[in-house]
Amino acid sequence: MLKHCFFLFCAVLGLAGTTLAGCRKGPPSQAEFALGTLCTVSLYDQGKPEVYRELFSRFREIESRMSVTLPDSELNRINAHAGIEPVQVQSDVFEVLELAARYAELSDGAFDPTIGPLVSLWNISGDEPRLPSQEEIDALLPLVSWRDLELDREGRTVFLKRPGMALDLGAIAKGYAADEAAGILRKNRIKRAIIDLGGNILAYGEKQDRRPWRIGIQNPLDSRGSYIGIMEVRDHTVVTSGVYERFFEEDGVRYHHILSPADGYPARSGLLSVSVVTRRSADADALSTAVFVLGYERGKALVESSEGVGAVFIFEDKSIRLCGGADFVLTDENYRIVSN
Ligand code: AMP
Ligand code: MG
Repeated sequence: MLKHCFFLFCAVLGLAGTTLAGCRKGPPSQAEFALGTLCTVSLYDQGKPEVYRELFSRFREIESRMSVTLPDSELNRINAHAGIEPVQVQSDVFEVLELAARYAELSDGAFDPTIGPLVSLWNISGDEPRLPSQEEIDALLPLVSWRDLELDREGRTVFLKRPGMALDLGAIAKGYAADEAAGILRKNRIKRAIIDLGGNILAYGEKQDRRPWRIGIQNPLDSRGSYIGIMEVRDHTVVTSGVYERFFEEDGVRYHHILSPADGYPARSGLLSVSVVTRRSADADALSTAVFVLGYERGKALVESSEGVGAVFIFEDKSIRLCGGADFVLTDENYRIVSN
């Protein structure tokens, strides 16, 4: 058990913002701030400096293209040309947008990459988040409209049809980056690694003793770094969307960062968090956000219609429901698993 806890300890340290120049007796790890979060990679078989360099430079490249906070990103170029003209983009940006559009359709718009105007209005990840007025929300809601995102594969161009529309890839870009990292590991013949992009985890390969990795599921009511249970995975990713990640409180109400495109407010679905487990991290990232917005019944239907996907739903009353074959072991007795 001690050994198993070791990885969790590393992940906790990583989340707390410490650069892991190698946990004592542990694997060499490296952490850098990128993609708006702390990215920690632990190469368990060998810590080759050139592999770390390649990984982190790819993270920075993805950020430089897909971030909305960097003014010169490709995403902001698309946003600046909303209602004016299509913009040609790099193939990775196009690929992520195609995937985002697919999840928008699959989730009936619960996941919507054109959520940008509402994200800016609430500014929940910024320095001064605030509760907007109903008028402000109503004015922007019509601009959140994934059907008005035009993707032309041949010319690799992207067009937001109406002025004022804006893309935000905060709900999928980290997952994509984790998959890109896995590709770099494969190319470099790395056998086992943990990629942790702000809690978005990709467990690559298996542990040296051939057992699965043990990934902690964050306690959504506690500070970061405490876990309510464990998922055992090999070559899988576990991605969580939850109320605890980014939020502000006003008059005793918590306003978190996952917005419902239906009404423009933080999604209120009775859930504290949803963790999705599957092979590809971009899928898990998009799905966890979509399912959080959809809520349990519709979210479960989406998970069960997707092949090889499992989910752990944690509700406000501390009950937990599992679906789609999630291999989850509860360790916190304050929570309880209930059957579907
Ligand atoms: P995640 O933590 O992956 O669930 O992503 C949340 C982030 O995605 C937010 O900080 C926003 O940048 C963006 N976002 C918020 N609501 C949505 C939504 N309904 N669909 C797509 N992206 C969203
Ligand atoms: Mg997501």
